[in-house]
Amino acid sequence: MQDRFLGDRTALVTGATSGIGLAIAQALAAAGARVAISGLGSDQQISDALASIDAAGANGSKHFAADLRDAAAIEAMMSSCASWSQPDILVNCAGIQHTASLEQMPAATWDAVLAINLSAAFHTMRLALPAMAARGFGRVINIASVHGLVASVNKTPYVASKFGLVGLSKGAALEYAGQGSRTSGGVTVNCVCPGWVETPLIEPQVEARQAAVGGSRDDGVRALLAEKQPSGRMSLPAEIAELVVWLCRPAAHNLTGAAIPVDGGWTSQ
Ligand code: NAD
Repeated sequence: MQDRFLGDRTALVTGATSGIGLAIAQALAAAGARVAISGLGSDQQISDALASIDAAGANGSKHFAADLRDAAAIEAMMSSCASWSQPDILVNCAGIQHTASLEQMPAATWDAVLAINLSAAFHTMRLALPAMAARGFGRVINIASVHGLVASVNKTPYVASKFGLVGLSKGAALEYAGQGSRTSGGVTVNCVCPGWVETPLIEPQVEARQAAVGGSRDDGVRALLAEKQPSGRMSLPAEIAELVVWLCRPAAHNLTGAAIPVDGGWTSQ
């Protein structure tokens, strides 16, 4: 029997047409939340995502379209979502990555990575947090990365965006820390900082490493993990989602401004 403790809550999850965001939307639905998602994809991909979220327990999840590079589109998305149901829980999960040296990095890629991974979260937060404060309950969970805590080569826009996301979250956590009460649940803002997670985002890096070491995809994955993630195991999207659901619990009212690594020891080295 699932604990439906989010039965009277609405969640908006960006980047939920794939990977970690989709798993988070499903887990929040299973915990009883009304779920809105955004994210790119074909009509089929979006309707499959909504069907899987409903099957997990949402019953009437809804997609709000927006290209998150566009601030006006984000405002329209937030306004449509609020008219449908004001979010109590906001998960900023949309993200892109491109690997190249600083010198080789296209300037347009810098703009896109910063817009989607960082500025979009600023816009969704500035639009969602006031209503959370008014109700005395809110949870903002930003999916950053180990790259919000430590750098790696050939990922400068990604690293800059994720360090920025951690800073944005800490600042917002301070501004809203005094809102609400233990009874109402308070308003918290946190980052989850995964290491390697098994999703389409990392596939180009897996393929490149497989080509470099030869052998199977598993050999490529092993080589990638051996470099940085001491556990030698990738996380699964559903495991990240369980932490997100826990952060929505009333007992998490005093956990705010944190950047929580889920990285098999990567950032402990
Ligand atoms: P994914 O590629 O499976 O999903 C990315 C999501 O972002 C998709 O829903 C996509 O439609 C959406 N998106 C991309 N560009 C968009 C745009 N312009 N407008 C609106 N939506 C857009 O990737 P994932 O691995 O699930 O990554 C999710 C988050 O987790 C990202 O922020 C990523 O940086 C972070 N992360 C992933 C890993 C990993 O190993 N996979 C590790 C650490 C952090």
